[in-house]
Amino acid sequence: MDQANTDPDTKQSKTCPASPLKLLKNKRTKIIATLGPACEDEHIIRKLIESGVNIFRLNMSHGEHATHRENYLRIRALGEEMGQAIAILADLCGPKIRTGRFKTGSIELKQGETVTLTMRDMIGEAGLIPSQYAALADDIAPNQRIFLADGVLELRVERIEQSEVICRVEQGGTLGDHKGINLPDARVSAPAMTEKDFRDAEFAVQLGVDFLALSFVRRAEDVELLRNWLQGQKTQAVIIAKIERPEALCAAEAIVEAADAIMVARGDLGVELPPEEVPTAQQMLIDTARVQHKPVIVATQILESMIEHARPTRAETTDIFHSVSSGADALMLSGETAVGAHPLLAVQTMNRTIRHAETYLWQANAFGAPPNGSSLAATPSATAPGTTLMFGDAVARATAKLSRDLMVRGIVVLSRSGTTAAMVSSARPESPVIAVTTDARTVRCMNLLWGVIPVLATEDDIQDMAELARRLAREHNLATSGDSILLVQGFHCQPQKNHPSVTILCT
Ligand code: PEP
Repeated sequence: MDQANTDPDTKQSKTCPASPLKLLKNKRTKIIATLGPACEDEHIIRKLIESGVNIFRLNMSHGEHATHRENYLRIRALGEEMGQAIAILADLCGPKIRTGRFKTGSIELKQGETVTLTMRDMIGEAGLIPSQYAALADDIAPNQRIFLADGVLELRVERIEQSEVICRVEQGGTLGDHKGINLPDARVSAPAMTEKDFRDAEFAVQLGVDFLALSFVRRAEDVELLRNWLQGQKTQAVIIAKIERPEALCAAEAIVEAADAIMVARGDLGVELPPEEVPTAQQMLIDTARVQHKPVIVATQILESMIEHARPTRAETTDIFHSVSSGADALMLSGETAVGAHPLLAVQTMNRTIRHAETYLWQANAFGAPPNGSSLAATPSATAPGTTLMFGDAVARATAKLSRDLMVRGIVVLSRSGTTAAMVSSARPESPVIAVTTDARTVRCMNLLWGVIPVLATEDDIQDMAELARRLAREHNLATSGDSILLVQGFHCQPQKNHPSVTILCT
């Protein structure tokens, strides 16, 4: 059997420079690329898709609605033309706190000096930093830390005088206009969605984006606010909760349950937490999401050096290996594609590194491992015997085991809403999963799921699922005549109403 063309195949010894790995044909971990001035030309977007991008991100923190609309239409047209279920994610800014503007565009902060953060509507100057976040003086307390400009600058609060916060500079440097302010020791009281977020969300769902990412989620109620608003608008979008506040880590299980997917947003998380805690937070979030069969994205600084350079650092490619081996569904590029000098090289580097990692893990029989930490059980309501989640979980794990034991060439899943596909994907089976749906939005949303090849079918097509499964396995070069595949259907239904079935088919 030709492993370059089909997998699984007989497993060879581990990677060895003298006998380079024959890469698995199908990449399992998905790639998200942020759109921006460096990559929004049609021919670059086309090349990014050819190089492995599954989802594009429109970042509402930057750019005008008119530009986002043009990019949206460009991606939709290319996805259609290239016959690929390319999805689009709109990322809402959330209650990001920022500095205002300075008379000279920036000021210098010197270690040990006293500066004032003011909520007054004014232009800043040396020693005076304006911010439009009106509740800053209420949220913060003496002796707490304030980080500025991605945590590069650090202040310590000395006292609060009405709407002025008097601080000592602990870590100095240059502070420019509109830089981020992080309050890692405070409970931020800002509403989960700002007026701009509501405007951006309305714009994005009217366009028809597949995913809405909500920034700075602190608790499950923040996700429910967006969910209720979407219901009120009679629109749908899959909700991705961005985890970037320390409180969110304590509420992670409830947030994962409320959301459809989560993002480990390491940019702000890495400012709010001590850097040494970011890797463990990332692993805990990946495990928590996988236990609940929800996709999880790892984001930010993955190939940061490629914003300028054509080659990644060793640490960056090792970070990709680590995220892949720890179970992420998708990895996201931000500045690397949006404003970097090498957007295409960054995606190609990510694609190659993911595929090397996956081939290595596949050969080491590491696919199918359950999430780390059995202590990270799903919430009691979700795991109660007989519930959909527990039932589906058992069938998904059995499907992954069966696919490995029988060395089947592929798993075909009928998944109307994407739930069944998510459950099978979360068991990380060795065989690629073709997930079939009749819904045009679901097919794109399933492109976030680890190992899933999404396929749109008609109601007529799915009347004979066995025949369709055999045809799709051949069309996707997973199987040739006489190979075995698995067909999974019906386990998103309550067990008492409709038992799921896993069928072994010969192609
Ligand atoms: C992050 O903080 O890692 C992130 C993805 O969010 P943003 O790019 O909006 O800051």
